[in-house]
Amino acid sequence: VGAETVREVEPGELVVIADGRLESRRPWGAAIRPAVCAFEEVYFARPDSRMGGRTVHDTRRALGAELAREAPADADVVVGVPDSSIPAAIGYAEALGLPFDMGLVKNRYVGRSFIQPGQAARDTAVVQKLAAVDSVVAGRRVVLVDDSLVRGTTARHLIQLLRQAGAVRVHMRSASPPYIRSCHYGIDTSRSEELAAARHDVETIRRLSGADSLQYLSMDGLMRALGRDGWCLACFGGPYPVPVEQDVVHHVP
Ligand code: SF4
Repeated sequence: VGAETVREVEPGELVVIADGRLESRRPWGAAIRPAVCAFEEVYFARPDSRMGGRTVHDTRRALGAELAREAPADADVVVGVPDSSIPAAIGYAEALGLPFDMGLVKNRYVGRSFIQPGQAARDTAVVQKLAAVDSVVAGRRVVLVDDSLVRGTTARHLIQLLRQAGAVRVHMRSASPPYIRSCHYGIDTSRSEELAAARHDVETIRRLSGADSLQYLSMDGLMRALGRDGWCLACFGGPYPVPVEQDVVHHVP
């Protein structure tokens, strides 16, 4: 909209704009315990947004670099899942001195997968939405970096696409820890029973996804990449910052 960035609105701060005046209020005083959604940094936020003084793009690169330190792979090329995983894949490739390339590309002419009703339609949309570039992956050992593995269905389809395009190995890496619990704060991810890491151990998810190897970023790695405290990490197994009813209905089918 052509607006100029002044600064971030702080946790617990209320900014009121009225009659051409801008006023900052802190209705809760100093009794604020920040718990910013870590999944914003991992997946939701725009890469050009600034959170905590750093672009989301740079944070995602840092997530990829941490992942490379914790989970290197013997490979020829690093591929990210467009679009949200590209910065993490670049960070991963840089840290290991491997080439990054666009082994998966987005089809701009089909709709977004999350607006499709039902899991089967969403899965089909994922396959239609992305295509593998065979000149990048054929005959190569590929590291596929995704920002997260939530249901695991996307990973399975993408690994299949890469193999069909001639990849000889596909090593799957997640630039965030296992997503094991539902969000109760408004992010419509999935019910617990649909979360791959809530139901299976890493080896089972690897087998089901068809990857040659699978590794996730650790919670420590996530914290190092985020670089500061004050996060909600509940879906990665941290405490829910505000108590929730475990049986709350949070998912609208
Ligand atoms: S539980 Fe929800 S608010 Fe908390 S990090 Fe996960 S997605 Fe974000």
